[in-house]
Amino acid sequence: CEDLNKTRPEYVKSFQYESRLMLSTWIVVRIDGCHFHRFSDIHEFEKPNDAQALNLMNACAVAVLEEFRDVVFAYGVSDEYSFVLKKDSQLYQRCASEIVSSVVSFFSSTYTMRWNEFFPQKEMKRLPYFDGRAVCYPSSEIVKDYLAWRQVDCHINNQYNTCFWLLVKSGKSKSDAQSDLKGTQTPEKNEILDRLTGILNYYDTLPPMFCLGSSVFWDKETKMVDNEEGATGKSRKIVVVGHCNIIETGFWEAHPQILD
Ligand code: ATP
Ligand code: ATP
Ligand code: MG
Ligand code: MG
Ligand code: MG
Ligand code: MG
Ligand code: MG
Repeated sequence: CEDLNKTRPEYVKSFQYESRLMLSTWIVVRIDGCHFHRFSDIHEFEKPNDAQALNLMNACAVAVLEEFRDVVFAYGVSDEYSFVLKKDSQLYQRCASEIVSSVVSFFSSTYTMRWNEFFPQKEMKRLPYFDGRAVCYPSSEIVKDYLAWRQVDCHINNQYNTCFWLLVKSGKSKSDAQSDLKGTQTPEKNEILDRLTGILNYYDTLPPMFCLGSSVFWDKETKMVDNEEGATGKSRKIVVVGHCNIIETGFWEAHPQILD
């Protein structure tokens, strides 16, 4: 009978459209906090960079690498994180919506669960949530270009925001600070920073986490343990968080196994 046909699984499922990400390409899932400008205001994040908020983001990224073993590298700045999945990953048969939604929901719940660890004095007043997208990159060289793009963005934004907030903290209105910075290049921004702080090359004294963002990856940890034959090195793999220059090739040459 026709009516019964309409409830058959094959019929109902035939409407589903599954977009599978191209085989043998690196999948990058980038997530970004939704309305984090407001979220950071409500929770009184330090401006321009709240270190604890960044540490919480990094802790969530470490948890993602431990949970999703196909993620080989992650790079984070501000309220965003990019996760690189190895090119032969078969996670969710490479179905984009399942990969993105599971990473995003895992990240969001970890952020909420661990909030108190990083902000013991602050009640969470709004729920954090993230959006996400997946993009395929056909070679490791292009993945490196992608990551370099994110790190350049981090630097440009940090340079601008550091100037902006120093001007505001020195008594300028936000709109005056904005017009002061309009059209300025790096040397002028550095001049402003040095003049306002009285510190030569002030930008270089900032924590690397603010200037370079955070890179998360599996690395070998070697521990010396004592036994009958004396001390021997025992190594195991752990997820580490570094603040490295990933634009230059040095990092990738030192860690060839990450994108092999
Ligand atoms: P959207 O929902 O479109 O992503 P958004 O408000 O999240 O909007 P973004 O462009 O993603 O805007 O920028 C994130 C904002 O969150 C930053 O501009 C900054 O104000 C704030 N923010 C995020 N992380 C931190 C941090 N660690 N310290 C201080 N402020 C932060
Ligand atoms: P996948 O990650 O592929 O979705 P899964 O373990 O979540 O795997 P599902 O097919 O989604 O498997 O089934 C969910 C399972 O969770 C059920 O089989 C059941 O064992 C358990 N479960 C979910 N909700 C309840 C509930 N309210 N009470 C008891 N068990 C539940
Ligand atoms: Mg966004
Ligand atoms: Mg955002
Ligand atoms: Mg953002
Ligand atoms: Mg499922
Ligand atoms: Mg399930």
